[in-house]
Amino acid sequence: MHTIEADYLVVGAGAMAMAFLDTLVSETEARVVVVDRNHAPGGHWTTAYPFVRLHQPSAFYGVNSLSLGRGTIDQAGWNEGLYELATGGEVCAYYDHVMRQQLLPTGRVSYFPMSEYLGAGRFVTLAGTDYTVNVTRRVVDATYMRVLVPAMRPPPYPVATGTTCVPPNDLPRSWESTSMKRRCSSKIRNIFRTIAQDSFC
Ligand SMILES: Cc1cc2nc3c(=O)[nH]c(=O)nc-3n(C[C@H](O)[C@H](O)[C@H](O)COP(=O)(O)OP(=O)(O)OC[C@H]3O[C@@H](n4cnc5c(N)ncnc54)[C@H](O)[C@@H]3O)c2cc1C
Repeated sequence: MHTIEADYLVVGAGAMAMAFLDTLVSETEARVVVVDRNHAPGGHWTTAYPFVRLHQPSAFYGVNSLSLGRGTIDQAGWNEGLYELATGGEVCAYYDHVMRQQLLPTGRVSYFPMSEYLGAGRFVTLAGTDYTVNVTRRVVDATYMRVLVPAMRPPPYPVATGTTCVPPNDLPRSWESTSMKRRCSSKIRNIFRTIAQDSFC
């Protein structure tokens, strides 16, 4: 069992945690430990469907100290004439940059990815190492919203034995499997084409 001293323990490294961390580190001298079971910061964006995009302009999302995107207006596609909407990949790359280039270099943030928070200041890493954090100020639960995307759970309805159940957002991933390609009817192929062309949210 290892023990760490910190002012704050933040559970989760999703959008909410990253915004909190960014402000905390910018405006105070606090030392923070961040624990997340994912391999990278960004929360559910790291597991969302492959063609996901923000539903709002990139400029209105992310952390205070760094803009997401360049505030450009899309010149083509279904979002033509409107402010850019970051893709899931761009959102993940952005949070990775914020963590590695802004937060960690301060020397006041200790980030533990692939680690499970167990409660009462304790967490365990994927490698099985146990840690206890002695927190002088607050444990911040940034998992509070309990975001659950379909990719993170089985269907919430019964599926008959022998039936292949693929939710619409998972179609691109299924298409990558050759057995699915073989079994696909031309109607389904048209759906794939529509997704590829429109890449809607
Ligand atoms: C498809 C989709 C599109 C969206 N688009 C938009 C948009 O355009 N604009 C907008 O404002 N919002 C959007 N949202 C809402 C989105 O949920 C929020 O913007 C935000 O990303 C939620 O962040 P969060 O930090 O609250 O939660 P999460 O992203 O769920 O992060 C919580 C983190 O906590 C970690 N965690 C949980 N329990 C533990 C534990 N015991 N130990 C260790 N780690 C743990 C998880 O691994 C996760 O990384 C969208 C949501 C979805 C699903």
